[in-house]
Amino acid sequence: MADSASGQTVQKDRLEALLLEERKFSPSGEFRRQANVASQAIYTRADRDPEKFWGGYARRLDWIKPYKKVLEWKAPWAKWFVGGKLNVTANCVDRHAASDRRNKAAIIWEGEPGDSRVLTFGMLEREVNRFANALKSLGVGKGDRVAIYLGMVPELAIAMLACAKIGSPHSVVFGGFSAESLRERINDAKAKILITADGAWRRGNLVPLKKNADEALEGTPTIEKVVVVERVGKTAGTTLAAGRDLLWNDLVAKASDKCSPEPMDSEDLLYILYTSGTTGKPKGVVHTTAGYLLGTSVTHHLIFDIKENDVYWCTADIGWVTGHSYIVYGPLANGTTTLMYEGSPDFPDRGRFWEIIEKYGVNILYTAPTAIRTFMRWGTEWPAKHDLSSLRLLGTVGEPINPEAWIWYHENIGRGQCPIVDTWWQTETGMILITPLPGLTKTKPGSATMPFPGIRAEVVDEKGKSVGPGAGGYLVLTRPWPAMFRTIYGDPDRYVQQYWTRYKGKYFTGDGAKMDKDGYFWLLGRVDDVMNVAGHRISTYEVESALVDHAAVAEAAVIGKSDAIKGQAIAAFVTVKEGTQPTDQLKEELKKHVASKIGAIARPEEIFFSSELPKTRSAKIMRRLLRDIAEGRLLGDTTTLADPAVVNRLKHQYEEEGKSE
Ligand code: ATP
Ligand code: MG
Repeated sequence: MADSASGQTVQKDRLEALLLEERKFSPSGEFRRQANVASQAIYTRADRDPEKFWGGYARRLDWIKPYKKVLEWKAPWAKWFVGGKLNVTANCVDRHAASDRRNKAAIIWEGEPGDSRVLTFGMLEREVNRFANALKSLGVGKGDRVAIYLGMVPELAIAMLACAKIGSPHSVVFGGFSAESLRERINDAKAKILITADGAWRRGNLVPLKKNADEALEGTPTIEKVVVVERVGKTAGTTLAAGRDLLWNDLVAKASDKCSPEPMDSEDLLYILYTSGTTGKPKGVVHTTAGYLLGTSVTHHLIFDIKENDVYWCTADIGWVTGHSYIVYGPLANGTTTLMYEGSPDFPDRGRFWEIIEKYGVNILYTAPTAIRTFMRWGTEWPAKHDLSSLRLLGTVGEPINPEAWIWYHENIGRGQCPIVDTWWQTETGMILITPLPGLTKTKPGSATMPFPGIRAEVVDEKGKSVGPGAGGYLVLTRPWPAMFRTIYGDPDRYVQQYWTRYKGKYFTGDGAKMDKDGYFWLLGRVDDVMNVAGHRISTYEVESALVDHAAVAEAAVIGKSDAIKGQAIAAFVTVKEGTQPTDQLKEELKKHVASKIGAIARPEEIFFSSELPKTRSAKIMRRLLRDIAEGRLLGDTTTLADPAVVNRLKHQYEEEGKSE
């Protein structure tokens, strides 16, 4: 690659790290004094003997049979808590129901139309047992896969826990997916049963889950029975197929509320979950029993600084791993009250999240950068209408958070007082791996800070050599961790090839990162999204963050567009804040702003204003489709898009603007 600036030929296999963010935030003395982790010693202790560290936490779980060994590691194959037997649901529900927590709220559920339901641990135990027995009555046994296609209703959590209780792995498919996506996932997992609902509510509209399911079921030979939750009622206009479809309520009405937990081996399959599909075809990620339960519960307890009486709210959909690990399994294993919300942030109005926080006195909020940027665009008047003083801690996950969004969150939601935990992890990792510990870590806006105790991460170049502080490269993990995925369902070769082959014995995350001089990690987005401008490898995240830093910008997506001279030229798709005019003058101003913030090399060649950006159903920006648009190609795979119409509209607008210039 030629470095045109110096006229010399320089091999550039590193990402340049451009963004300098020097602001630092410490937890208040008050927060620190009450924090679950108050001493740095945890890092050295865990690093010195990770097996002892994780093994120490294993005492917090209820075992049916003790394990013999914490870890057996023959890279890339891991076995955690070898020889142990336990049951995930016994740990998440039964043991709490048998304790002082029996009458404590386990799940607080808020429906979109404003209906609500609270399940105590005692009630949850009975509901789970009834449904577990119902599944058994349908011939479901240990090892049979169960597909679940529901909106955010309590039955979703109940169904997952019922599956875990009888040892039947679940495969939850996000309720926003199409019939075709559902069918693919059912067939890949060879599921025997499908659990769905007549419909779901989304911004006051009906999502026709059962109709989609019926369409999917035309090509799913392994499905024997379908269980239907009635969420919407008559208006859903669904029909039941005789001999195949059964109503949830009919089944549980007949079922006993006693069910003893199936003893599961530590390494037995707990669930399959397909990745978001941001970079390509989704992979069926396999999670097993003991390590997953331990990893999610320990991280949940320490990172979210959970206290007995907390109301904890993770706003993700349970259809994604964040919901599996940090709405259902982690919190319930810890006996925490977990809030589940059915609807969207702007229905019936844009104050919905803040209203819910006030209503239930939420103490911990865990959401995504994309949501925060949307709130920024809507303005501070919405949160200002509500009492958010119950909040003690904030979290974020899903994408790198732009520093300006971090600051906005800190000031307007956290009143400048709540620590923010920016948590990096993946469907594959099962648990959070890079994160602050809120009572200890000085945070820097935009950095996920440091690996969790016992975790080792490195930033390496193409050849796998560690790059020094300040330089960019590829994020790899060099030690196994309890909640790591064990394989790709039905495709162990892909597990080895995609994740463990590029750097032998190290886990390749697919994300770019840099480490700064203080040892903080900065996630720079996906390796596939990194641009190459005149021999400089530049991260889309840094240019986006410089754009979002401008007062007029709400959200930005940056791509490298092929360019005859530079290799790639930077093109930015920008959404402006409400009330701002997208003018040519603003375009020039934004280009200048980026150049002054992070350097002339990152000055966008082209800026395109757009009121929406294409996002996956898990709300991540899909840059590869923007590249298709900018380079005038046919659009690539759009099946995991939240709204395929957005990208078609955008393509059309982009082409029109090109003609008029
Ligand atoms: P696919 O693997 O199918 O392309 P996906 O990677 O979007 O989809 P997920 O497992 O849901 O599926 O997302 C994990 C990815 O999300 C990470 O690899 C990273 O790119 C991004 N991510 C998650 N949390 C953070 C964070 N706190 N900071 C930066 N990036 C994050
Ligand atoms: Mg991924």
